[in-house]
Amino acid sequence: MIAKVEPLTTARTLRGPFDYLLGDSHEGVGVGSMLVVPFGPRRILGVVVEVAEDSELPPERLAEPLSALEADVPPDLVRLGLWVAQEYVSTPARGLALVLPPGTGTGSGRRTAARRSLVAQLTDQGREALAGGERLSDGQRAALGALRNGPSRVSALAESAGCDHAGARRLERRGLILVQSTIEPSRRPEVRAVGALRRVEHPTTAQEAALAEVVGAMDRPDAAERRLLLHGVTGSGKTEVYLRSVETVLDRGQTAIVLVPEIALTPQTAARFVQRFGDTVAILHSQLTARERFDEWSRLRSGEARVCVGPRSAVFAPLSDVGLIVVDEEHDGSYKQEGDPRYDARLVAERRAEACGAVLLAGSATPRPETVLRHRRIELRERVDGRRLPPVELVSMAGIAGPLHPAARDALEEVRRRGEKAIVLLNRRGWSNFLACAQCGRTWDCPSCDVTLVLHRGAARMSCHHCGHAEGVPRRCSDCGSVSVARHGIGTEQLGAELSQLVSPLPVFRLDTDTAATAGVAATLERFDRAESGVLVGTQMVAKGHDFPDVTLGVVLDADATLRFPDFRAEERTFALVAQLAGRSGRGERGGRVIVQALDPSARALSYAARHDSEGFLEGELARRAVLSYPPHGHLVRVVCSSVQAGPEGEAAEAIRGAIDLPGASVLGPAPLFRRQGRERAQLVIRARADGDAANPARSEVIGAVRRAVEAVSKDRTHGTVAFAVDVDPQ
Ligand code: ADP
Ligand code: ZN
Ligand code: ZN
Repeated sequence: MIAKVEPLTTARTLRGPFDYLLGDSHEGVGVGSMLVVPFGPRRILGVVVEVAEDSELPPERLAEPLSALEADVPPDLVRLGLWVAQEYVSTPARGLALVLPPGTGTGSGRRTAARRSLVAQLTDQGREALAGGERLSDGQRAALGALRNGPSRVSALAESAGCDHAGARRLERRGLILVQSTIEPSRRPEVRAVGALRRVEHPTTAQEAALAEVVGAMDRPDAAERRLLLHGVTGSGKTEVYLRSVETVLDRGQTAIVLVPEIALTPQTAARFVQRFGDTVAILHSQLTARERFDEWSRLRSGEARVCVGPRSAVFAPLSDVGLIVVDEEHDGSYKQEGDPRYDARLVAERRAEACGAVLLAGSATPRPETVLRHRRIELRERVDGRRLPPVELVSMAGIAGPLHPAARDALEEVRRRGEKAIVLLNRRGWSNFLACAQCGRTWDCPSCDVTLVLHRGAARMSCHHCGHAEGVPRRCSDCGSVSVARHGIGTEQLGAELSQLVSPLPVFRLDTDTAATAGVAATLERFDRAESGVLVGTQMVAKGHDFPDVTLGVVLDADATLRFPDFRAEERTFALVAQLAGRSGRGERGGRVIVQALDPSARALSYAARHDSEGFLEGELARRAVLSYPPHGHLVRVVCSSVQAGPEGEAAEAIRGAIDLPGASVLGPAPLFRRQGRERAQLVIRARADGDAANPARSEVIGAVRRAVEAVSKDRTHGTVAFAVDVDPQ
């Protein structure tokens, strides 16, 4: 028998799969097995993607695998990983890395702050050596023994078994262990419940009806009928519908995946699942240690855990017989991965559900037009307790000095007087947006990006929000020497300070990535929840699905800031942000209200959000996108070329434009993007109508044409200094 093995390397040029001969000692090897194979002079790790009778090569030219790893990947996940590679114009190795046991493969080395560490795991040869004959020193035996229950850091092996780095390498050369470099997460937050997790005794009639729809979809043969959207207003009790749907699936002997936005930001939802299902739940979040991730992964793989709750990567959970995939807060941007492969977990979930016959249940109060068009809709029109959604007041900031409108000041003043709670959203962190010399007009910019540096007063730094560059705060202008350096614009840090004065003595809690790093998100949310009264101020983090029953006021500052970006999703994003923030208010007996400040309060997205009219908004949005051939009425692929010197990136983009052979599609650009992380960038956007007649290319044709063009141009030496990034369905 022949195993077709895809090598797990980051090299884009190496094109597998390669054939290896399976001898008698490789009995149990099949699709999804992980093999250490000889590759020229090297030994590398690969995944079996196919098992065949024959090879095109003569048997004497085929090598045998050296060893097999204990852990393997379910075959359907191998197919899913390869599909992702294809669909998102990536490499098989990167697609497969998504589905491998944590700690193996090429990994995702994108996080700059993370440390790397070496992790060792036992091979099946190692296990045999431990059980029987092979000659081992006591130290080696101890080291292998320590790995019997799963991988471990090499540094930990030194401590526990006295096996140092060189010792580990010797074991690796004998094929007894595999040593790999992985990312070591820097923190390890646990999943904490914020606020009382009230048990729900009786579902409402609307929840019952929704559940019946979900259960009814479970036996439908047609995948389109198993694609559901739970469109429920904020506070309508969507989570309870997910919980009961999962319960049903478990009763049927199947398993379930529940995707949530970043767990650190929405600890409540994950906590509810743990509360309800206990150890049947495995949580896969990005901040587990390598060991914890592997443990959770193994619990899912073995069937010990049957529900996986996690962010986008949990869509690759190694569960078999998946009956339900839930995508909570499906409008959330975190479902799209930013690095290669730039996959969208919502589409991957759809693909996986289709392949395994599962129900796909997306839920949101502000669903995306894509989902509304493609899913069968189930509605929850009212809040569970029958409370009405809070009235939203739009106010114009034209001619108003200071960050707060008088109406917002009055409302906050009232919160202070009555000792209530408010949430204030400003989607910009730091103290001031930028500094400018009052004498000569000099501004302080990032040396690597074409953006201004943001002042962080507490940290006494000026920092770039695109690359992390930081420098000290200038006392005087370095061009003209003037000491009058003016601070412009306001961020959450400064707003927090102003609010502290305004609502004193009520406490003010700030929540943004700066405070999250020190105070922790869950801890801050918990302190706000516990407080008798106070104000929670922060970036979009405060508008996530939190459930605080006693918030009586919501305020959004600069609500139309997002509309000023030239992006076709700007309206959708603005609508969702404002509607979601509004949804945090008025969940208790005292009711609530919302004030939205904008330069232009008549903007379409804002007026729909103020009326809580997602129906009306979606209708208009779908019509607008149909006219412009934007998703879901069009296919969109973005290609970004970048280089350190100015020039090559534009030439490469131009060459790709020329190489795209796709009748019926339009190619926009090359358009320059602002310089980022020291790289000049040029962008192309390829767009084709999705519906209509046969003259329009299919999605796979669009993706294929872009792939071929990018591959051709990137192979051309003339463009050797250029890096390419392809983004299918860019956000
Ligand atoms: P959504 O996600 O739709 O915004 P949640 O699922 O967070 O809403 O539910 C809002 C609140 O209502 C939660 O505190 C939840 O415990 C409560 N709740 C949900 N269903 C019921 C019910 N049937 N009876 C009483 N309370 C409920
Ligand atoms: Zn100056
Ligand atoms: Zn920068």
